[in-house]
Amino acid sequence: MTDYQADLFVIGAGSGGVRAARIAANLGARSMIAEEFRIGGTCVIRGCVPKKLYVYASRFAEEFEQARAFGWKLPQQPEFDWPKLVAAKEAEISRLSNIYETNLRKAGVEIFEERAEILGPHEVRLIRSGRVISARHILVATGGGPTFLRDIEGIEHAIGSNEIFDLETFPRRLAVVGSGYIAVEFASIFARLGAQVTLLFRASNVLRGFDGALREGLREAFVAAGIDQRPGVLPTAIARTGSSFRLRLSDGGDLDVDRVLFATGRAPHTQGLGLEQAGVALDAAGAVKVDGYGASTVASIHAVGDVTNRVNLTPVAIREGHLLAERLFGGGVAQVDYDLIPTAVFTTPELGTVGLGEAQAREKFRCVDIYQTSFRPMKATLAGGPDRIVMKIVVDGDSDRVLGVHVLGDDAGEMAQLLAISLRLGAKKADFDATMALHPSAAEELVTLRTRTARFVREDV
Ligand code: FAD
Ligand code: NDP
Repeated sequence: MTDYQADLFVIGAGSGGVRAARIAANLGARSMIAEEFRIGGTCVIRGCVPKKLYVYASRFAEEFEQARAFGWKLPQQPEFDWPKLVAAKEAEISRLSNIYETNLRKAGVEIFEERAEILGPHEVRLIRSGRVISARHILVATGGGPTFLRDIEGIEHAIGSNEIFDLETFPRRLAVVGSGYIAVEFASIFARLGAQVTLLFRASNVLRGFDGALREGLREAFVAAGIDQRPGVLPTAIARTGSSFRLRLSDGGDLDVDRVLFATGRAPHTQGLGLEQAGVALDAAGAVKVDGYGASTVASIHAVGDVTNRVNLTPVAIREGHLLAERLFGGGVAQVDYDLIPTAVFTTPELGTVGLGEAQAREKFRCVDIYQTSFRPMKATLAGGPDRIVMKIVVDGDSDRVLGVHVLGDDAGEMAQLLAISLRLGAKKADFDATMALHPSAAEELVTLRTRTARFVREDV
């Protein structure tokens, strides 16, 4: 039997890779991991965690205003200090990165802080040290990175989400291109921190793929927050003008800004990794093709997380990494269940959603019932403000099973996390109705929504 130096060699110490390496080591495997940037990966270093910290920062402006309506006197107009936020964020992500590293070492995982590439089905090369390591299994957990629309003249002046966290100076005028998760989250953060934000996107409304009621609610909230939304308009050229930039737009106009953020999707990190030479098949988007267990077309090479471009969320990458390690070294047979994954978009107001939206449900089910409401949050009764909470429950009219729940408003993400449990248990609308309300809360509306607002019946099914 061949004697490999490692049972598992993981490339990429992000959400999926770290979990797989640690679980494998806990199961007795000789586990190694290579990271070319910073341990923790996208989520910890330049994704979920710093993003959420900036979301918290962005929400204070409104709270200072609201505080006055609740009897607080603010001695002076609060001022925002961008470098202070960036430094505080840096301290926190460094702390987390250290914890990740410590936990890996405690589990017995050997760490290489350098780039790794695949030489063959059982061999990787560490690029800086030149070391070649043999491994029984190789796990590709290299994540992905921002993409830019390369045919735009002057695109080199644009930045992506990796750069926006650490800008030296706060952009007073910011153009954001795209209308997916990253675009709307950063548009919301920077607008609330005081920037004048213009959102340029090709669709007719933000957040394609989310339920229409939430998309419309967010569009209205963005109008109220002063975000200039330009559906159907994209930049065609970017030129530097001193310390700022002039965008030529597809509607013929111009736009002067301090920064241009592109958030037009992400691409898997597979280039130059040696995958194709090793016989690993990639899909049209460059993602590693895997089966339900994370196995690639080469028996000893596996992939989890964003590099497989399935559901690009941290908890999904973690679950994929965990189950893969259990399968390889613990006799596990479980596959990741991709059904009913809750998700939140951390704009202000926030979106929280689980299950099917109205349009998706109407495609799949004969009879779909909708229960929808929109109301002012209780806080707004004293503090004022334009935001409304939107809630929508999508129900299979034939079986009464709840197919999806969609919330726009404070803590919508927290609600979606808990709603996901009920939906996984197959909750019916009658179960929601039978559940006692918790008063006073916004979430109580979800169990007191009795009036059906629409029923859609398909004659063709
Ligand atoms: P990653 O975390 O990207 O880790 C891959 C690692 O591999 C990186 O550290 C990279 O440096 C390293 N690497 C790449 N190539 C090599 C190589 N050849 N050798 C060595 N190392 C290599 N998800 C959520 O669930 N909630 C959120 O709120 C959320 N917010 C996000 C906000 C932003 C701005 C972004 C960009 C993403 C966000 N995501 C969020 C998505 C989430 O970050 C990813 O789904 C998750 O990090 C994927 O984990 P991963 O392990 O697949 O890859
Ligand atoms: P998304 O897929 O969410 O959005 C991509 C955006 O780019 C869409 O608005 C899309 O437009 C636009 N786009 C794509 N191609 C073009 C093009 N050729 N021309 C013009 N516009 C284009 O990707 P993001 O980059 O925002 O985020 C990547 C992933 O990271 C997310 O899908 C999510 O999985 C994860 N993430 C999760 C977060 C969370 O959980 N809160 C936060 C941030 C990221 P259109 O809609 O018209 O297709």
